[in-house]
Amino acid sequence: MRTAFITGANKGLGLAAARGLGEQGVRVIIGARDPRKSDVAVRELVQAGIDAEPVLVDVTDPASVRGAAEEVARRHGHIDILINNAGILPEATAEEVDGPLDPRMFETTFATNVLGAVEVTHAFLPLLQKAKAGRIVNVSSTMGSLADQSNPDSPYYGVVVPAYQTSKAALNSITIALSKKLSDTPIKVNSACPGWVQTDLGGQQNRAAAPLTAEQGAQIITKLALIDEDGPTGQFFDANGPVRW
Ligand code: NDP
Repeated sequence: MRTAFITGANKGLGLAAARGLGEQGVRVIIGARDPRKSDVAVRELVQAGIDAEPVLVDVTDPASVRGAAEEVARRHGHIDILINNAGILPEATAEEVDGPLDPRMFETTFATNVLGAVEVTHAFLPLLQKAKAGRIVNVSSTMGSLADQSNPDSPYYGVVVPAYQTSKAALNSITIALSKKLSDTPIKVNSACPGWVQTDLGGQQNRAAAPLTAEQGAQIITKLALIDEDGPTGQFFDANGPVRW
C-alpha cells in the first residue's frame, strides 16, 4: 500500500485529493494545523472506507514540520507521495492592501506558499527517498505562469494579485530545480494547476463564481501523484495537459 502525506488536507483541494487517492487504495495522511478540523476530515474519509489518519502540521513553523516528519517516520518509515497543497491568497480577502506591492502581503503569502513547501519537502525528502518511486506534487496555479500573466488573451489577464502570483511562480521554479537535483533518483516532481475551484481560498465571492468542484480540480493532483516511472518530471500540468511556465 502506498502512503501519501498531504498538507492543508482538512478541506478544499487537499481533502478532495486525499479522497481521490484513498479511493485508489492509497493510505492518506491528512496534514493539518488544527487537530479538530483534521479529525473531522479523517472521520469522513474513514467512513467512506479510506485508510486515513491525521498528522498535525503548520507549514510556516519549521519545528512543527520537523515534528510531523518524525511522527510519520515513526508510524510508517517512509512515504510514497508528498503533496504540497497548503496555500493562501490573503490579497483576495484583505480589507486593505498597502500599495501595489504590499511587503507584508508578500511576507505572509511566501511564508506559506513558498517557504512552507520548501520546509515540508526538506523534512519529508528522506522519507520519500526510502520509497521505491517517490512522487512530489506542488499545487500551483496558472496564476503563477509568467506566460499566462503576460498574455492579454488569458481570461485571468486582468487578475493581478502580485504576492500570490509570484509565490506560485517561485513554487514552479522550485519544481524545476528540485526535479534536476533529484534527476538521478526515481523521485518525480511536478506542478499542478487545479483550475478555478469552489473552495475557501479567495473568499465567498470567489467560491460562488468558480466553475469547478474540489473533486474536479483535484483530479490533476491525484493523476500526477500516481504517475508511473515513464511519467514526466519537472513539468507543469492542468486538466488539459502541459501549462506554459
Ligand atoms: P482552501 O482555503 O480551501 O484550503 C487551504 C488549505 O491550506 C486549508 O486546509 C488550510 O488550513 C491549509 N493551510 C493554510 N495555511 C496553512 C499552514 N500554515 N499550515 C498548514 N495548513 C495550512 O483552499 P484550496 O483548497 O483552494 O487551496 C489548496 C491549494 O490549491 C493552494 O495551494 C492554492 O493556492 C491552490 N489553488 C487553488 C485554486 C482554487 O481555485 N481554489 C486554483 C489554483 C491553485 P485551515 O483550514 O487551517 O485554514
